[in-house]
Amino acid sequence: MNIAIIGAGLSGLTCANILSQQHQVTVFEKARGVSGRLSTRRSEDLRFDHGAQFIRARSDVFMSFIDELVDQQIISSWDARFKEINHGISSEVESFKQDNYVGIPGMNQIGKFLAKTLDVSIDTRIKEVTYKDKTHILTTENGDVFEHFDQVIFAIPSDQLIDLLPANVSFANEIPDFKMRACATLMISDPNLPDFGFDACQITGHDLSWLSVNNSKPERGNYPCIVIHSSHDWADQHAFDDRDWMKSHLLSEAKDLFDYDFSSAKHSNLHVWLYSNIAKVNDAVYYRDEKMNISACGDWCLRGNVESAYLSGYELAHALLENS
Ligand SMILES: Cc1cc2nc3c(=O)[nH]c(=O)nc-3n(C[C@H](O)[C@H](O)[C@H](O)COP(=O)(O)OP(=O)(O)OC[C@H]3O[C@@H](n4cnc5c(N)ncnc54)[C@H](O)[C@@H]3O)c2cc1C
Repeated sequence: MNIAIIGAGLSGLTCANILSQQHQVTVFEKARGVSGRLSTRRSEDLRFDHGAQFIRARSDVFMSFIDELVDQQIISSWDARFKEINHGISSEVESFKQDNYVGIPGMNQIGKFLAKTLDVSIDTRIKEVTYKDKTHILTTENGDVFEHFDQVIFAIPSDQLIDLLPANVSFANEIPDFKMRACATLMISDPNLPDFGFDACQITGHDLSWLSVNNSKPERGNYPCIVIHSSHDWADQHAFDDRDWMKSHLLSEAKDLFDYDFSSAKHSNLHVWLYSNIAKVNDAVYYRDEKMNISACGDWCLRGNVESAYLSGYELAHALLENS
């Protein structure tokens, strides 16, 4: 079979890896690199994990993938000093209670590892998928056309899928109507940033939700780099506001919470994720129209984390292999 997969995040790459053992697979990705929300932003010599911060495994299937990544030295555990701030009240600093894994030297290593042997067309945003005479035709935003696909898999966030899914697909009405939530991420770096006494902080009851000392993760060097995520509530309200205003608001929140003025840092940048996470838990695992040979996978088919993205892509690929 000739299979097209749209989206080179973890779900799409996992699915592509398994299916490519028996089929011809092409992955189309709109960004300039693979990994999606499991990515690493480079700025000059600095690196920030500006999406997913760490990975946890609950299922045996995902744990064996984690074991393989550890063996291949793609990830390693992050023994962070962790604390929480809940409505202004700080907890004691302690170790993470569970094993948390991170890519080395960046989260995007996982996507790069999976993509190594795949045919991935980056910088290629698919704008339209049409179904004619039992094959699929993909058209990019630049008007390039890719044809003769027997099977198309959408591995993109649900909000983006709704705009792209061809008419008459059997599961079109089952796609959850909840909107994905936004998140605004600050990336800050300065040689003089102090040791705050913790490496990761979860925040509730404020416009910020998370702070990571990025360089406390393994193999990131010693140059101080901080990643701060806003809360989903705040980002949902302000995602389309003026970026300078958003940045200064988040910097001022960070000053109040951590008693440090990050606004004078040598480097500070803002990224806004419009589709960062799902609002509710789903139990679909994946969606499939067996007549039209169109499927969809992604974290949003389960819950908003890296493990769900992996499981969704993994289960869909095995279901397709069984029927081919
Ligand atoms: C700020 C933030 C923090 C997070 N923190 C954590 C965490 O600490 N731990 C955790 O487990 N999870 C975390 N997550 C969630 C985790 O990153 C996701 O669950 C997971 O990476 C989703 O993978 P995916 O393959 O389903 O989707 P994505 O990674 O979104 O992949 C979809 C891909 O499709 C591409 N695409 C979309 N439309 C098109 C198109 N038309 N044509 C071509 N390509 C297209 C996109 O560019 C993207 O690369 C976080 C997410 C964010 C944003």
